[in-house]
Amino acid sequence: MSDPVIPVPPTAAKDTNCSASDYRDLYNHSLEKSERFWLDQADRLDWIKRPTVAGNWSYAPKVDIKWFEDGQLNACWNCVDRHAVATPDKTALIFEPDDPASDGRRFTYAQLKDEVARFANVMKTLGVARGDRVTIYMPMVPEAVFAMLACARIGAVHSVVFGGFSPHALRDRIEDCESDFLVTADIGKRGGKTVPLKQNVDAALSETPRVKSVLVVQVGDGSAAMTDGRDHWLHDVSAGVDNDCPCAPMEAEDPLFILYTSGSTGKPKGVLHTTGGYLLWTAMTFAYGFDHRDDDLFFCTADVGWITGHSYVAYGPLANGATQLIFEGVPNYPANDRFWQIVEKHGVTILYTAPTAIRALMADGDAPVKKHDRSSLRLLGTVGEPINPEAWRWYSDTVGEGRVPVVDTWWQTETGGIMLTTLPGAHDMKPGWAGLPMFGIEPLLVDNDGKPLEGAAEGNLCIRRSWPGQARTVYGNHARFEQTYFSTYEGLYFSGDGAKRDEHGYYRITGRVDDVLNVSGHRMGTAEIESALVLHPDVAEAAVVGFPHSVKGQGIYCYVTPNAGVDISEELEQTLRQHVRSEIGPVATPDHIHLTRALPKTRSGKIMRRILRKIAENETSSLGDTSTLADPEVVDALIAGRKGD
Ligand code: ATP
Ligand code: MG
Repeated sequence: MSDPVIPVPPTAAKDTNCSASDYRDLYNHSLEKSERFWLDQADRLDWIKRPTVAGNWSYAPKVDIKWFEDGQLNACWNCVDRHAVATPDKTALIFEPDDPASDGRRFTYAQLKDEVARFANVMKTLGVARGDRVTIYMPMVPEAVFAMLACARIGAVHSVVFGGFSPHALRDRIEDCESDFLVTADIGKRGGKTVPLKQNVDAALSETPRVKSVLVVQVGDGSAAMTDGRDHWLHDVSAGVDNDCPCAPMEAEDPLFILYTSGSTGKPKGVLHTTGGYLLWTAMTFAYGFDHRDDDLFFCTADVGWITGHSYVAYGPLANGATQLIFEGVPNYPANDRFWQIVEKHGVTILYTAPTAIRALMADGDAPVKKHDRSSLRLLGTVGEPINPEAWRWYSDTVGEGRVPVVDTWWQTETGGIMLTTLPGAHDMKPGWAGLPMFGIEPLLVDNDGKPLEGAAEGNLCIRRSWPGQARTVYGNHARFEQTYFSTYEGLYFSGDGAKRDEHGYYRITGRVDDVLNVSGHRMGTAEIESALVLHPDVAEAAVVGFPHSVKGQGIYCYVTPNAGVDISEELEQTLRQHVRSEIGPVATPDHIHLTRALPKTRSGKIMRRILRKIAENETSSLGDTSTLADPEVVDALIAGRKGD
C-alpha cells in the first residue's frame, strides 16, 4: 500500500517563488547545463573576484573537490555588510532569552555589522590571524553568531563545539583541530538551569597546553574564575577597539569552518567546509527550501553547535538578508507552550525544528499549542532524523492548522545544506518522505554490491556528482574522508543512509546503514559511548545499541562486561552511568547499563550487535539466525537479565 499524498495547501501555492514546473525546468537545467547553472547562481553572492569556473572535482582515484576556485569573496561581507549597506534598518537578529521575563535583544543589519566588526577586532587584538582555528564553545546567545561571523571576517576558521559537551569532548576537539583560541561564556542558561561553561573550559584546558587565549562573554554575574594572561572578558577587550574592521579577501576554497560530527567510529571527525561553495549552497537552499520572502521571520530552533545552526542560523538566512529569531532556551521551559508563545509574541512565519522536539511536544497534547495565535506561520520545516507520519500529521494539522506546508529536509553535516525536500507551495507532500532532490543533486540508490537501482526501489543512498556545499575533507585526515564517503561505492558519495524511492521520485530515509544513535536529536556514535565505557578501569568490554524511546526517539542501552574479579553490582551500574556522562556529556547518559559476564560473539570474535539490539528492543522472539554464535547460552542469560520494562 502506498503512503497518502497531501496536496499543497492552495493559499501556499499562490505566490511561491518556485512552482512545480519551475522546479522541473530548473532541476533539468542544473544537471544538463551544470556549469552555466552554477555560474548564474553565483550571482546570489557578492564576489571580490567573480569566478569563471564552477565545479572542478573528482571522486576517483583521489577525492579532490573544488568549486568556483578562481573566485574571491568574504562570507561575513555577504551575510552582514552588504545588507548593512542595502537595508541597514532591517532587523537581522531577534534574541529571545531562556527566561521569558528577561529582556530580549534585537539587532538591525547596521548594528550587526558594528557588533561583528568589533568582535573581529577583539580577536585580532588577542592575536587571531587568517587561517587560525578558533574553538567556539557558547550558549545560544547572539555573541555565538557574532563570533562565527567575526572569524569569517578575518579569515579565521571556526570550530563550534556544542555547549552541552563535556570538558573531555571539548579537549579532544580543541586538540584535533589544533586551535589556540577559544571563545566561550561564563555560563549558559537553558531551561532555567545554569551550564558552567567557563568551568568546563578550565577543566578541558587543564588537560591540554594548547590554548593561548580565552575570550569570555559575560552571560551570568561575572564571578567566573579567570586565569591571568590567558582569559579575557569580551567587554574589557572590546572597550579598547573600534568597529572598523575590513573583510579579508578570501579564496573561494579557503576553509570557512570545521565541525565535528558525532563520530560513529569513536574519534570525532572534523568535517571541513570552504567559503564560496558552502555559502552559495546555504544561500540558495535557504531561498528555495523555505521559499524565503523579505518580510519573513525565520525561527530555526537548532543550536549553533550542530550543522543546522551553521547553515540555517549563521549563514543561510543572513546571506539572504533575512530576519531571524534565535532562542536561548528549550521547548518546555518555563512551560511546554514556549515555542508557540514565541511564535505568537514575535509573529514567526517559518519554524524549522527537529522530529524529537515535535514528538516531545505532541506528547503534551494540543492544548499548549492552541493557547496561542499561530496565524503568522506560513511554513513548517523539520530536519535531523526520519519523522514518523503521526508526528508529521500533528505538526501539520495541530501546529499548522492544516493550512501551511510542511517541508521534511534531508541533509547532513557533510552536505552543507538541504539535499532532499519538497518545495513549499510547489510539491505535494508525503508524510515520512523527504521528497525530491535540490537543484544540482543527483541521488542514486544502489544495492549492497553497488548496482544502481531503477524506479521505485530501496537501497543505499548515494549522490552521483559533486555540489558546491559538499564537505572538502576531514580536517587533518583526508584518507579518512576518502575512506568514509567514497570507498564503499566507486565514483559515488555514499551518505551512509538507507532510503526508499517511490514511483514519483520521492525519497524516504530509512535510517543509517551503520549504527548511530539519535537521542533527543543529538547524534552519537555507539562506538564513542563504548570507547568511554572501556576507559573505566573496571570495564572489559562494552557494546552499545539503541532502543525505541517514546520521548527521546532513541534510548541508550549498554551491555558491559566487567573485568574479572569485579563484582556485578548496582553500584557499578551507577558509577558507569556517571562515567559516560562526564566523559561525553549529559546527552550521552545511558538509560540502561546491563552488566554481563559475556557478550554474544561470532566465532571470529565479533560482537553480534544485531542480537543485542533485538534484546534491547524486547524483540526476543525474532532473534534471527544465531548459528554463527560462539556460545548460544550467553543469549539466554542476557534475555533473562534484560533491563527496562
Ligand atoms: P556521524 O556522521 O558522525 O554519524 P550524524 O550523521 O549523526 O553524525 P548529522 O550530519 O547531523 O550527523 O546528521 C545527518 C544524518 O541525520 C543523516 O545522515 C540522516 O541519517 C539524518 N537525517 C537528517 N535529516 C533527516 C531527515 N529529514 N529525514 C531522515 N533522516 C534525516
Ligand atoms: Mg553522518
